[in-house]
Amino acid sequence: MTYRVYNFNPGPATLPLPVLEEAQAQLLNYREKGMSITEISHRSREFEEIIGAAETLLLELGGLSTAYQALFLQGGASQQFALVPLNFLPPEGAADYILTGSFAQKAYQEAQRLGTINVAATTKEHDYRRIPRPEELKFSSAPAYVHITTNNTIYGTQWKYIPDTGGVPLMADMSSDIFSGETDLNRFSLLYAGAQKNLGPAGVTVVILKKDLLEKVSPDIPAILSYKTHAEARSLYNTPPVFAIYLVYLVLQWLKKQGGLPAMGKLNARKAALIYQAIDQSGGFYRGHADAENRSNMNITFRLPNEELEKIFVAGAAQEGLVGLKGHRSVGGIRASLYNAMPLQGAETLAQYMTAFYRQNG
Ligand SMILES: *Cc1c(COP(=O)(O)O)cnc(C)c1O
Repeated sequence: MTYRVYNFNPGPATLPLPVLEEAQAQLLNYREKGMSITEISHRSREFEEIIGAAETLLLELGGLSTAYQALFLQGGASQQFALVPLNFLPPEGAADYILTGSFAQKAYQEAQRLGTINVAATTKEHDYRRIPRPEELKFSSAPAYVHITTNNTIYGTQWKYIPDTGGVPLMADMSSDIFSGETDLNRFSLLYAGAQKNLGPAGVTVVILKKDLLEKVSPDIPAILSYKTHAEARSLYNTPPVFAIYLVYLVLQWLKKQGGLPAMGKLNARKAALIYQAIDQSGGFYRGHADAENRSNMNITFRLPNEELEKIFVAGAAQEGLVGLKGHRSVGGIRASLYNAMPLQGAETLAQYMTAFYRQNG
């Protein structure tokens, strides 16, 4: 058996082992073509099948109607921070952003370069420990769209409801919790996710949008930055990241085999509960960053009594094959990322390690 650790990195992140094995098995000779999928033309029948099937699976797994189209773009989620306002913010218009963490803030700053942006709510003064409550959302009079970040990768908080925008298009950065459980994605007009957290490797960004939105795309922007260009070309306007899309396709197939989003939602809740239980039963030794009602099932953030212990915790975990647990530099402490591909056993092993560590050092 190949040596594999439990990889809690926030992204690029762990991938399902069967996906890696399948990619490995096909690497030198994809379907008797005598070459790998990464050497083949993006206009070949083989690749067109892959990208078509990947789009179909995205919509099917997401429970999305035929009103939607999925795109495979480059530039990461960060590029979407610019593309959303570039495409959809009219010259005299405004958009509303809800600030719940570092990436939400970045999306907001990028949009501010292009027009008038209102902050409909922020939880910055609460150290981003929670998501705003519905009654705290103050939308402006006629925003072109509302933007949210469904899961805050760095702070470890997650929206537990979909805000009611009263018919204004809702757009979301779902990079770190896309397809992690059941939600009504049809409530969103556009959603995007860098693949490297919950969908595949780095290098491709999935965008799912309502087709009727394309009529609103600004005609004055460069073609390469227009959603319309990519939608019309079905993500083949220029050379797409062929291998990354292939891996996303394999991950989606794997996801379907696991039982899709309902099964993932249950599994992810179980995994996260194990870690939160270890935090809550440590008598204050572990201090979770997120308020209980907004705890993320994907990224779990917590502190130990001091930085010295945090270093010992991370080093000791690595010796047990639990890696990638160091928190983001802006928050410190520990972060365990439990994306779809993290097996239940990984969460169990981490919870056991946490309890043993607390007993020894608490
Ligand atoms: C990681 C992350 C990003 C940045 O993604 P890139 O693909 O590196 O641009 C943006 N938003 C969220 C919520 C993330 O977790």
